[in-house]
Amino acid sequence: MNLHEYQAKELLNTYGVPIQRGYTLSDIKDLDYISNKLSTETGTKFFVVKAQIHAGGRGKGGGVKVAKNADELKSCASSILGMMLKTPQTSKEGKLVNKILIAEDVYYPGENKHEEFYISILLNRSSSKVMIMYSTEGGVDIESVAENTPNLIFYEEVNPSIGLMPNQARKVAFNLGLSGVSLKNMIKFISSLYDAYIKSDASLLEINPVLKTSDNKIIAVDSKMVIDDNSIFRHNSYADLRDESEENPVETEARSVGLNYVDLDGNIGCMVNGAGLAMATMDLIKQSGGEPANFLDVGGTADADRVEVAFKLILQDPKVKAVLVNIFGGIVRCDRVAKGIVQAYKNMKDQIKVPIIVRLEGTNSKEAKKIIDDSGLQIFSASSFSNVTEIIKETKRHKNQIGSSFVIFM
Ligand code: GDP
Ligand code: MN
Repeated sequence: MNLHEYQAKELLNTYGVPIQRGYTLSDIKDLDYISNKLSTETGTKFFVVKAQIHAGGRGKGGGVKVAKNADELKSCASSILGMMLKTPQTSKEGKLVNKILIAEDVYYPGENKHEEFYISILLNRSSSKVMIMYSTEGGVDIESVAENTPNLIFYEEVNPSIGLMPNQARKVAFNLGLSGVSLKNMIKFISSLYDAYIKSDASLLEINPVLKTSDNKIIAVDSKMVIDDNSIFRHNSYADLRDESEENPVETEARSVGLNYVDLDGNIGCMVNGAGLAMATMDLIKQSGGEPANFLDVGGTADADRVEVAFKLILQDPKVKAVLVNIFGGIVRCDRVAKGIVQAYKNMKDQIKVPIIVRLEGTNSKEAKKIIDDSGLQIFSASSFSNVTEIIKETKRHKNQIGSSFVIFM
């Protein structure tokens, strides 16, 4: 689950990470109230207005602006709220800005004595450790730093069962070129950030920029945070943080019925049981020169209802030109899956305009074949998985066959 900047900052602040004060609004009517409140609480005269969308690079797209008086604030806020914000991380059309964050400007304009750093914390799966990635080159696109000056990016690996050692936090702060008060504040900052990463069950935490003010405060100015979906049940407060308007609606629908669906760019829809088999199936499709349209794991209970929902999810995608069902019947027997497929197919006959290719292997695969045979669905069998893409090509050549089903038994 991705969080918005303002949500991540609020969460980080509960673990002691310093942030700039700010409030969000979705209706421009609330602007005066919020800016007055913020001025009273912080004494600030300058504000920063920031689009809250799930994409980085907002500054470059005009989604982050500094306002030096009430008039500027009004014009910045009204231009950003409701805009279609295009950044290198959005689609060509951009993303609609439904919410903006109004925060105190913490850059002390005119002084130009601040520094911007980059700090992120993520899981290094190959070493099974938590990795702190950091750089003196903050505020800019970190990908280009990594490409042009990789020597300016540092890494510190933390053993999660031991936790962040004080000397590690010190080393990071020192490598960022700090000393004195700012060094001390950075050590505290990194320790709080690590604490937040672990306790909030994040899988990624990226602060770019981390600001050092001219009076040596260390503040998180931006924050990108991804929460591990598998941990959400442990945190009651997370239910409110999901912004479904930012998510792929099909993925949201899939999650609501317990299916694991990820939209991809290709044209072969996939329905598979088990994440490992799903990935292997996608690899095989690619190796055979095809492109999967999605990842869909129907899980252990591939009954008629689930198969039908899964078909619907796959078929709503106009890119899909064929559907490949690749199910290994272990705990869920093939005959049960076959019944599900037949049932779902009958219920959706009018909507199915593309060939459905089914491979059922494992427990009761013979019974499954009989169920499909007896159903009257057109059957095409092949002896190996590599034939799948040939069959798809074949169906494209024989337009009259579109709409029929093929079943492959290996
Ligand atoms: P991003 O473009 O989506 O990464 O959004 P950021 O929150 O990182 O903002 C982009 C840039 O705007 C930052 O790198 C800062 O240089 C600048 N910025 C952000 N907050 C402030 C602020 O409070 N005051 C000033 N003067 N600049 C800011
Ligand atoms: Mn940023």
